[in-house]
Amino acid sequence: MDCIFCKIVLKEIPSKILYEDDKMLVFHDISPQAPSHVLLIPKKHIPTLTDLTPDDTVLMGHMMVKIPEIVKELGLTGKGVRLVSNCGAEAGQAVFHLHFHLMGGRAFTWPPG
Ligand code: 5GP
Ligand code: ZN
Repeated sequence: MDCIFCKIVLKEIPSKILYEDDKMLVFHDISPQAPSHVLLIPKKHIPTLTDLTPDDTVLMGHMMVKIPEIVKELGLTGKGVRLVSNCGAEAGQAVFHLHFHLMGGRAFTWPPG
């Protein structure tokens, strides 16, 4: 499959991995937008949020409840962090393999651009 994040899962493209298990991978974004900026991805190829089905309930729950551990690993426990998933080109999605940006280490403004 011609998907850059599937290639990262398969280690065909190197990445700086922070956490990995059988269902998900967390690696540092190549172009960080904050002092800490990692991407949480399912190993399963799902293009975007609106492609999720009820079959993905356990997978998504698994990914979300890993966040405290990842935040701790980044040394950001107790600090402000932001979780973002751009869904669709209009929302700024460039890679069509579902991912959550987890960012921290600076102040964030709202609304986002
Ligand atoms: P999107 O715009 O789709 O929400 O975010 C895609 C993210 O993937 C961007 O923040 C971009 O910097 C990151 N990215 C794209 N290609 C690579 C890569 O080969 N390695 C890593 N580590 N990050 C990548
Ligand atoms: Zn993929």
